[in-house]
Amino acid sequence: MAIEPTIRFHGAAGTVTGSCQLVEFGATKILVVCGLFQGSKTEKELNYRPFPFDPKKLDAVILTHAHIDHSGLLPKLARLGYDGPIFATPATTDLCSVMLADSAHIQESEVDQLNRRNLRRGRETVTPIYTARDAAVAVELFRQVRLGAWEGAGEGVRFRFWNAGHLLGSASVEMEIDTGPSAMRLLFSGDIGPRHKLLQFDAKAPTGWDYVICESTYGDVEREEADDSVRRNILRSQVLNATHPNGTSHPLFRGGTHAGTADRSCPSDGSRRRYQMSNHH
Ligand SMILES: [Zn+2]
Repeated sequence: MAIEPTIRFHGAAGTVTGSCQLVEFGATKILVVCGLFQGSKTEKELNYRPFPFDPKKLDAVILTHAHIDHSGLLPKLARLGYDGPIFATPATTDLCSVMLADSAHIQESEVDQLNRRNLRRGRETVTPIYTARDAAVAVELFRQVRLGAWEGAGEGVRFRFWNAGHLLGSASVEMEIDTGPSAMRLLFSGDIGPRHKLLQFDAKAPTGWDYVICESTYGDVEREEADDSVRRNILRSQVLNATHPNGTSHPLFRGGTHAGTADRSCPSDGSRRRYQMSNHH
């Protein structure tokens, strides 16, 4: 009897962060992305729970892009003994070498603050989800795969990347699983960017899939078409607004997180402006 692959969703299910899909085919186990849960305290606590699979038994990890809600638990995977390849495009590899170290720094400093409070209140201290050292170990596991190049991920499974137009290096994953006379074809979309951007090509992928696993964070949002001139005008008005004495600015593209916020002091007039940082527009 032919073996059927299974896909389990261990994150970004009922919430929009912590993307993590486990593909199993016979003895082959492949993780597609391994993201950090971000948002409310309840969501963040999910990062501390054990993985619902054994990291040491994975054959490979395939990463669609560097955003932390897709890559942010890779250092935890390395900390728990995963030492196989993490396949990613060259640009994703470069971004992750900076962003995972930054994420580790955030984990360590947040836990440091929490532990100071815990000590004052006589509570037990906690350990960070991972450290800068774990992030460095994870980065060493990265294997660069160029767009369009087939790569084996485990017995009976191969994949190739397609440009997803979402972030520098972002990719969708075409996966072929050797289920019989004709291979099963899957597409993991990863986050997909809007069309007509100034600095990136539009998303691209073939058709004829057996299954498409599609990110749908903004699936219920109808976006207006925006060509180059519309985008330039939006940027122009936002820059003018931001430089006005009472102005505010949003959004500012940032690679590290999804839709975080940050305060910035304005020394010239002493006022404080709130900057909404988002990477989905
Ligand atoms: Zn993303």
